[in-house]
Amino acid sequence: MTPLPHHLWADTLPWQPDPSQILLFDRFYNLVIQANEQLNLTRIVEPEAYWEKHLWDSVRGVVPLIKNQDIAVLDLGTGAGFPGMPIAIMQPTWYVMMADSTRKKTAFINNAIQSLGITNAQTITGRAEDLGHQKRHREGYDLVVLRAVAPANVCAEYGLPFAKVGGRVMLYRGTWEEREAQELERAAYALGAKVAYVDAFALPISGAVRHCIHLLKIKPTLEVFPREVGTPTKYPIGALDDPKPSNGSETTEEPY
Ligand code: SAH
Repeated sequence: MTPLPHHLWADTLPWQPDPSQILLFDRFYNLVIQANEQLNLTRIVEPEAYWEKHLWDSVRGVVPLIKNQDIAVLDLGTGAGFPGMPIAIMQPTWYVMMADSTRKKTAFINNAIQSLGITNAQTITGRAEDLGHQKRHREGYDLVVLRAVAPANVCAEYGLPFAKVGGRVMLYRGTWEEREAQELERAAYALGAKVAYVDAFALPISGAVRHCIHLLKIKPTLEVFPREVGTPTKYPIGALDDPKPSNGSETTEEPY
């Protein structure tokens, strides 16, 4: 199999994997490709595209936060383990919990964690709307990340109940439109948070735009949030009343 283009790390990020981390990235890639035949985990399998869109993108999001030590991270809607697995490999002092509602996905990640000998990561199966009310998880994380799970304001309702006051939620997005930004501001406010900053960047091979939106949690989220399963997507908090534009610019999920 063609190797991942690891020589590109050095010129594209102020963080570099060491040889043992490169080995883990490669082994995880092989596991994803193998399992993909049965599980349909991702469409992005070609080495350069995988390196850029899954690996580099996952790592790039947390680069501004790498000085933090020993933090608890939740990856909500992790799918095949993105961005959670690359983050766990990158930051061995961080504890990374990966959650998804689909058991076949968390089962795949569990196997990967075991076979790679990763000790700082775990999975849980469940929906954000349920897990967010469990004592063990509620306001239990310093950092919550969500990539390609739902519109931004919905992700805020999914993610913010899990963040500690003073902690943050980070949304990995593709394009970032004014309308989504306004809806997210409104949702964040209702959930006890504010938008702290928008980290814009381009992927190093394709040049595609990406944005990581950092929300800072400033007070506890009201107990009514998250609302029951399905309600956050059906009646999103902060949604603007006027009709959405129909030219496709409202697209909120990137084809990861
Ligand atoms: N974060 C991954 C996967 C994105 S696909 C990536 O970027 O590649 C979205 C994933 O979120 C799916 O695996 C789906 O099962 C999960 N998901 C969607 N809504 C969810 C919810 N309410 N609670 C938990 N998981 C959810």
